[in-house]
Amino acid sequence: MKIYTSLFPPIKGEIGKQSEINKESCDKCEHLLNTNRYKKIEYVFDDWNGEDLIKGVSCLIVSQRLKERIISEEMKGFSFKEIIVSKGDYFKTKKGAYQVGLPKFYEIQIEGRAKGPEGWFIKLSECSYCKNTKWKVSPLGRKSMVKSHRSNEAIPRAVYKNTWNSDDIFKLEDPGDPIFTERFLNILIDLKVKNFDYKEAQWV
Ligand SMILES: [Zn+2]
Repeated sequence: MKIYTSLFPPIKGEIGKQSEINKESCDKCEHLLNTNRYKKIEYVFDDWNGEDLIKGVSCLIVSQRLKERIISEEMKGFSFKEIIVSKGDYFKTKKGAYQVGLPKFYEIQIEGRAKGPEGWFIKLSECSYCKNTKWKVSPLGRKSMVKSHRSNEAIPRAVYKNTWNSDDIFKLEDPGDPIFTERFLNILIDLKVKNFDYKEAQWV
């Protein structure tokens, strides 16, 4: 099973004022303790051209049709939570959209976890109280994040195979975008999910 990392899913708007954050934080380092940043999400779209997978601050959202497809394939490693979909003042549905008007969207809450060596990110310090690690992007990581499959300077994200629990989408300990399996990628390709770029990751 091959694995991949996503590269900058498109941003189509912003987190709205109706959103609520899970505020409980570590007394020592102020890191938010809940792995899901939001209790409730409102996403305010500036426009929509039929994108099914969209990035917000610390969250990923998926369209109704992508969610249904993921569920029908019995994938593992996440759950869905419906979000409030709003339109910005100058909102437009663009010509590439597959329907008139916005579909429902859901936050994909990624529960799958695995570990990997440092690469794109370097460990800075660990909070002795909540065990949260601070990371910084490495120079090679910065080069590897460019939207290119071919850059010679790019290094793959790496995952320890013996820490993988067969999840189709999972996070590593570092703050990078999630890793997903070939099975998951095939759904995105089959649905022709727009503006979605990815790069192969590596088992180690
Ligand atoms: Zn802490």
